Amino acid sequence: MLCYTSPLFICALGTWLSARGCIKLSQFSMQRVFLSLQVIQRFGVAAVGFYRFKGLIEDVGSLDQVATRLGVDVEVLRQLIHSYQEAADAGEDQFGKVVFPTAFSEQDHFYVAFITPSLHYCMGGLEITSSGQVLKAGQTKKPVPGLYAAGEVTGGVHGANRLGGNSLLECVVYGRIAGHHAAHSTQ
Ligand SMILES: Cc1cc2nc3c(=O)[nH]c(=O)nc-3n(C[C@H](O)[C@H](O)[C@H](O)COP(=O)(O)OP(=O)(O)OC[C@H]3O[C@@H](n4cnc5c(N)ncnc54)[C@H](O)[C@@H]3O)c2cc1C
Repeated sequence: MLCYTSPLFICALGTWLSARGCIKLSQFSMQRVFLSLQVIQRFGVAAVGFYRFKGLIEDVGSLDQVATRLGVDVEVLRQLIHSYQEAADAGEDQFGKVVFPTAFSEQDHFYVAFITPSLHYCMGGLEITSSGQVLKAGQTKKPVPGLYAAGEVTGGVHGANRLGGNSLLECVVYGRIAGHHAAHSTQ
């Protein structure tokens, strides 16, 4: 991910909080991402095809073309790729990232996207029991008779940092649990 203000950074595997924090440091809400063909293949060609169909990811080509499209000096991109590879070889980058699933090369075929933070998942909401029954706010945390909840309206299942991709699983699991208990509730 490239920040519009210096220093440029890549923190692709950081938590949502650190990525959003980096973006918030910038005065620009839109940021830029560039991906190599190897990254696209690992991420999933079908998923990327959908994003390209929607016009969210562009097939740009060479690093020079990426620089033109993103409005960045190509030397800056070269240096960034070099630093990334150095960190990959060392096993850790300046952000503490220790997983480098793909290698970058200046000769890659590149794709770019413009991104901005948006509401994706609420890490907060009604507190529920393991049966999906809603608890009252405050110290006592008594169950609210006859009120069950699941999904986005509930908070705390994943703690303070959401595990990516797990919301729909949570919706199904707690939806079934809450529905079962609601159907058998006598209150
Ligand atoms: C762009 C995007 C991508 C995502 N990708 C993933 C992913 O890959 N994997 C994953 O696990 N999760 C993903 N999520 C998160 C996941 O989609 C949501 O957490 C999940 O759909 C929430 O389901 P829900 O039924 O709890 O809430 P919602 O889907 O928000 O359903 C709530 C419903 O209640 C209705 N409603 C609201 N107010 C009222 C009212 N007063 N009266 C009647 N009806 C009302 C709304 O119209 C809506 O239909 C993504 C979210 C976004 C935004």
